[in-house]
Amino acid sequence: MLVDTHAHLDFHNYHEDRDAVIERAYKSGVSHIINVGVTIESSRLSIELARKFAHVYASIGIHPHEASQIVLQEVLPILTDYAHEGKVVALGEVGLDYYRTLASPEDQKKLFREMLRLSQNLSLPLILHVRDSYNDLFTILREELGKGPLKGVLHCFSGDERVLHEALSLGLFISFTGQVTYQKNDMLRKLVSLVPDERLLLETDSPFLSPHVHRGKRNEPSFLCETARCIADERHLSVDDVGRITTLNCHQLFGFPDVAVTPKAVYKIRNSLYINTTTHCTNECSFCARFFDDFVKGHNVRIQKDPNPSAVLQDIDTFEGDFKEVVFCGFGEPFIRLDFIKEVSRQLKKKGVYIRIDTNGHGNLIHTRNILPELKGLIDELCVSLNTHNEVLYRKICRPHFEGNVFQEVISFIHEAKKVIPHISITFLDLPDVDIGEMEKIAQTLGVASRMRRFNSVG
Ligand code: SF4
Repeated sequence: MLVDTHAHLDFHNYHEDRDAVIERAYKSGVSHIINVGVTIESSRLSIELARKFAHVYASIGIHPHEASQIVLQEVLPILTDYAHEGKVVALGEVGLDYYRTLASPEDQKKLFREMLRLSQNLSLPLILHVRDSYNDLFTILREELGKGPLKGVLHCFSGDERVLHEALSLGLFISFTGQVTYQKNDMLRKLVSLVPDERLLLETDSPFLSPHVHRGKRNEPSFLCETARCIADERHLSVDDVGRITTLNCHQLFGFPDVAVTPKAVYKIRNSLYINTTTHCTNECSFCARFFDDFVKGHNVRIQKDPNPSAVLQDIDTFEGDFKEVVFCGFGEPFIRLDFIKEVSRQLKKKGVYIRIDTNGHGNLIHTRNILPELKGLIDELCVSLNTHNEVLYRKICRPHFEGNVFQEVISFIHEAKKVIPHISITFLDLPDVDIGEMEKIAQTLGVASRMRRFNSVG
């Protein structure tokens, strides 16, 4: 399920086959489309499309190119009136465009400020267009921010890293078009992977900016899957993952579509099946996602109580073996539930399932004995979050519940694990205080693989 959050299907380019284009989009997995108005007339047509097609929603607004043509006193009441239509979900596209300067910057800024106030009065998120005018756009947004809440998306993102960080710091979502698929756009693809999951959106900007394989042709929402595939590759995810993440984001920003947000004990990311083992932990890591969010890669993992083995095994069965491994993980430390792990693993091993545990390495501290021999033949892989390169930093960042040298206890746990578990790796954080060279030395000494983890990336 993908949502095209920006298309102009009211444009003349679709006069001959508009209905077929919308039908094609739906058949290709684009469940919903936001048709974005750029003038009063185009906003009216967007509403008409939303009335006609169940899966089309409307955004209303005046494009900056129109800023010198319109009379503000005339358009503001019309837009206010349009906003009361049930399927109007945003105000846009609005913004600043100094690339083509079809309207003077002064007129554009005046219109933009009015559009910002309107969005705040109407409680509608913004769809922002910006070209060669980032500084003015951010200045105005910051000035207006103090006067009320700002919710919106930077549509068709094509800025640099500074622009990206500034937009994120203002709370904006970031939306990518088929431009990410262009062979020369390595820089844009690099930025795709820097956007946090919870701020990512997709769009086609049809009829413009067809993805690489359709370049030169009129764009249409059914081509969105090409952009989704490219973004999935960049972020080392599946297209399903990108669809789930961006559809949830669309729901969070625009209030549609309805998405399943009930907490899950078993959920799939990429080709791995995760078991949300417990929400309890023996660390209080300063970066831990469970303190900030309920979601991991679009799944709600905030379970109310720890799951039992039979319910989990039943859930796993519903995936009909369509996964490469099962991972004990979740918003807590799996080894707190050692008996649960052993029971579920015993059943899965009968079916030859590959099993991994993502752990903080406190298993022996929790149970005050060496638990590792009990896992022999049950667990194939252990991934230990060591995070830092010494005890002082470990205590500062991971804030363990145990006294003593917990960092050293984790190292000892890894030594013991090597005797019974075939594959072991450690992860560390890409924080400035963490010495990567030291971490690699630790991994070498232990004889295990190592991997760096972005501190703000979960799943
Ligand atoms: S060990 Fe994992 S689950 Fe526990 S607080 Fe740290 S990041 Fe969160």
